[in-house]
Amino acid sequence: SPLLEVKDLQVTVGEEQKVLLDGLNLTVNPGETHVLMGHNGAGKSTLMSALMGDPRYTVTRGSIVFRGQDVTHESADVRAKLGMFLSFQTPEEIPGITLENFLRTAQGAITGKPVKVFAFRKELAQQMEALGMDPSYAERYLNVGFSGGEKKKSEILQLLMLKPKLALLDETDSGLDVDAVKTVAQGVRAYHNEENALLIITHNAKILEGLKVDFVHVLDDARIVRTGDGSLVNEIIEEGFHALKEDEAK
Ligand code: ADP
Ligand code: MG
Ligand code: MG
Repeated sequence: SPLLEVKDLQVTVGEEQKVLLDGLNLTVNPGETHVLMGHNGAGKSTLMSALMGDPRYTVTRGSIVFRGQDVTHESADVRAKLGMFLSFQTPEEIPGITLENFLRTAQGAITGKPVKVFAFRKELAQQMEALGMDPSYAERYLNVGFSGGEKKKSEILQLLMLKPKLALLDETDSGLDVDAVKTVAQGVRAYHNEENALLIITHNAKILEGLKVDFVHVLDDARIVRTGDGSLVNEIIEEGFHALKEDEAK
């Protein structure tokens, strides 16, 4: 059965109920990697936020079913506990909470069990090393004073430690240098298995390196206007969205 099933989704924002997504359909199965593309302002980040249950957005029609449960009107907490994870385009800085404490609290909240501290610390140290993060970052306040690259790595560290069933990655590669993109891509590959799925917003083929992209979706006019296989990524990077539209007109 699908991991995520989005049907006829309409999402609005604000009192005037501005429509940002309309009639959007999307099915994600375990083991799959989906890439979401679309011009600036197409609604990609809005979709990720709405899937995660961001209260700024209202679902005014349609449904979001995750792991067989209708979460359309559930809080972000409920979705996170079910195994949904969103890596933000601009990760938030949280003064007063260290990276380690944040991860421990999150893991405890998601599993509903006390975290085994020794095993947790050991795994944290291993994952940080794999991401090329200095161990001292575990004791620093979450993302405070982190560079762009370090913030993105801290997002991937969360992914590796929390092991969600569905990872929503919103331009986790933007603003990174070549080496940092490689490390992030490596982390994403290490996370991915046949039981979980990825939905990635990107315009950079490098972060997809070594991943088998199953589907590419193009978002425009508030919905998915085209779905193709992995080859669509490079087609779009090389020719832009304009070329796709001309394609369709033919
Ligand atoms: P993308 O990520 O594809 O670049 P976004 O999802 O960020 O696009 O934005 C899609 C559209 O929705 C934009 O026109 C944006 O201004 C609008 N939008 C997104 N969030 C809000 C909000 N909280 N309030 C008002 N408008 C919003
Ligand atoms: Mg796969
Ligand atoms: Mg965006």
